[in-house]
Amino acid sequence: MSNINPDDITEPISGVFRIPIPVPLPLKYLYSYAIALNQDYLVLDLGMDTPQARDAWMKATQHLGLEHGRVRAVFLTHFHPDHVGLADFAADLWQAPLFMWKQELETVYRLFDESPKSLMTFFSLHGMPQDMAEYLDQERFFTQAVVHLPVNPRIQPLDPLTTWGPFQLLDQAGHTDHQLLLYWPERQLLFTGDQVLARITPNISFWPDTDPDPLASYLESLRKLQMLPVRLGLPAHEGVINDVGGRIDELIKHHNERAGRILDLLSVPRTAFETAQHLFKRNLTRSQWRFALSETLAHLEYLRVRNLATFYEVQGIGRYQAVR
Ligand SMILES: [Zn+2]
Repeated sequence: MSNINPDDITEPISGVFRIPIPVPLPLKYLYSYAIALNQDYLVLDLGMDTPQARDAWMKATQHLGLEHGRVRAVFLTHFHPDHVGLADFAADLWQAPLFMWKQELETVYRLFDESPKSLMTFFSLHGMPQDMAEYLDQERFFTQAVVHLPVNPRIQPLDPLTTWGPFQLLDQAGHTDHQLLLYWPERQLLFTGDQVLARITPNISFWPDTDPDPLASYLESLRKLQMLPVRLGLPAHEGVINDVGGRIDELIKHHNERAGRILDLLSVPRTAFETAQHLFKRNLTRSQWRFALSETLAHLEYLRVRNLATFYEVQGIGRYQAVR
């Protein structure tokens, strides 16, 4: 089952090791970073708890010499399973403390250690077919199988007022409500997590009980990040980003174009699911429909909050329509 070789670890800039961790997702790899700081390492993000990912970390640990005492801390950018799944394994392997922003760690324990809330009402309200909604509602239990969190001690909250070593710790919304990005001003390096990726558009989703306008938060975050001098972007998926500012321009343009396309579609009333069916023409798996729906909703709510579209509910089905 060994599908990773320590030689696959790269050093895109001196002292920053980029470690591919296989994940059972279309993206194939999560890229973790081991950042050398004098005699120690800071490790950023981990992967899902699968035998292949554990194997990759065992090899990387040996290759980089990440034995006990060498890893000063593990930082987790956000609560998604491909970033946090191996938290318990890593805490045990390196005997190192793990950190996240406080709100993200509350989310991670709520979602993966407790019983996550049903989304059936939400999926049905937005027009998803019943059988797909039932399948996706069960999916929340599947992800629990690849996430194991340390209990004693738990993941710890970062102090929001401090920098850490040479890094500025950034709290960025949009992809999740509080994603941690590391900025290293002296070297002009930005560890972008899932906030800025080289090729794909990061997932910006609307869910109940989270940021009510995540697309607006995301665009605001991108504009802030664009003010930072950055010579290299180091994301958690796909290749490194040489021109972070240029990539941010593309992402902003993509979202503006999509908002325009959705407004056109809303010349007649449509559910969020119907709208998504017009935007995502490819054959999507049921899991991918989860994100197609929630991404479309992020756009629909963005338009609604700006009074460009209205939302109304009839007999348990919600529809959006453009305001003329
Ligand atoms: Zn993510």
